[in-house]
Amino acid sequence: MKTVKLEDNNIKELLQRSQIDADSVIGIVTDIVNDVKNAGDEKIRQYTEKFDGVYLKDFLISQEELKESVKRIDKDLIHSLKKASSNIRKFHQAQLPHDWSMEVDNGVTAGQIIRPLERVGCYIPGGRAVYPSSILMTVIPAKVAGVNEIICCTPPGPDGKVEDIVLATAYLAGAHKVYRVGGAQAIAAMAYGTETIPAVDKIVGPGNIFVTAAKKMVYGQVDIDFPAGPSEVLIIADETGNPDYIALDLMAQAEHDPQAASVLVTTSPKLAIAVNEKITEELPTMKRKEIISDSLEENGSIIVVSTMDEAVSFSNEYAPEHLIIMTHDPEERVKGIKNAGSIFLGDLTPVAAGDYGSGTNHVLPTSFCARMYSGLSTESFLKKPTVQRLSREGLNSLKDVVIPLAEYEGLYAHAESFKRRLDQD
Ligand code: NAD
Repeated sequence: MKTVKLEDNNIKELLQRSQIDADSVIGIVTDIVNDVKNAGDEKIRQYTEKFDGVYLKDFLISQEELKESVKRIDKDLIHSLKKASSNIRKFHQAQLPHDWSMEVDNGVTAGQIIRPLERVGCYIPGGRAVYPSSILMTVIPAKVAGVNEIICCTPPGPDGKVEDIVLATAYLAGAHKVYRVGGAQAIAAMAYGTETIPAVDKIVGPGNIFVTAAKKMVYGQVDIDFPAGPSEVLIIADETGNPDYIALDLMAQAEHDPQAASVLVTTSPKLAIAVNEKITEELPTMKRKEIISDSLEENGSIIVVSTMDEAVSFSNEYAPEHLIIMTHDPEERVKGIKNAGSIFLGDLTPVAAGDYGSGTNHVLPTSFCARMYSGLSTESFLKKPTVQRLSREGLNSLKDVVIPLAEYEGLYAHAESFKRRLDQD
């Protein structure tokens, strides 16, 4: 892995990483989205035949099929899924906000109430690999939020089938409906609705460039979580960092795909050398060594800084999806962190813990988006209507606010609606 010293003139370059260029597929995705919007199921059938190699009459997978698939899954894997689900549920239940109200001014009560979205769509990627953990991470928070109907879309294989593990996990997580539809056609169907697939209020979940481009395109018609780019980790370490663990965390991130970014920022040149040596030693033994090697070569770096403050400041500019802090004082260091999707403290907390089992969500913002987005959470599936009530005293409290401002803005009926109530005093 390349090792560099952080200087004023290389910061910009070191902050860069692969981005998804959704614009490069805008032509085909616009066609798919508009076709499905205008012609519904028949266009889905045509695009599914074209991209997934199978013509399907029906897309819906029955609850019975979902339930049956559970029986075909290895019992140990079911145990792992159930334990992960339990932790994810617990964590997301703790994220539930509460209704509240307060007296803002004399006689003026204001607050907010919490309401779930009515129907959401979870995209479950399925082209090159299956990711049961992503089903748990999207469906369970929606369930905890109280969403009335959770539908999932996932691409069929060339035989028209969806892997048992996907169906079983969707069933265990509590999805109401699963459709064998993938890619931009699935996103368009969930955004606009078709004869068989209902329109949803929000679409969440990762996917490839076509899925991401389609999600960006339908944003506004429906809400979306955020555009998903290649995965990233940034590790901040001092001389106490464990080179063995750091090397594995960097390689773990890199094995996602060659575009994934793995960065170590350290105050210790000695650690930088030790991590590099560990990677050289362990890489040949890794099952996905080609992907890891490409990824580390193209998108990995070890950055040596002079002070911890410099490390934290670089991390804040980088806004990593995953941030590991392996210093002697991780709790102290985290106080300076402004931008990160999910944070992992100490030697014993690999990103893999959050990917699968610690309960936090692994659908996280990438490509600088941690500056303005949080990861998927229970709140992602909630709305917060505000509520207010004025008493006679409240009308008096606000009369010198509402009437002059409404009249200044030329909204005389607004002013009058207030005055009339005062007049009845
Ligand atoms: P996918 O389900 O996202 O995409 C498959 C679909 O793409 C197909 O059904 C097809 O309709 C469409 N497609 C394929 N070629 C096309 C073309 N030429 N034109 C138009 N549409 C086309 O599955 P995938 O491709 O395996 O990608 C999954 C992505 O999700 C990967 O990038 C993976 O890294 C990412 N992922 C991210 C997370 C996370 O939490 N961040 C988790 C799991 C997966």
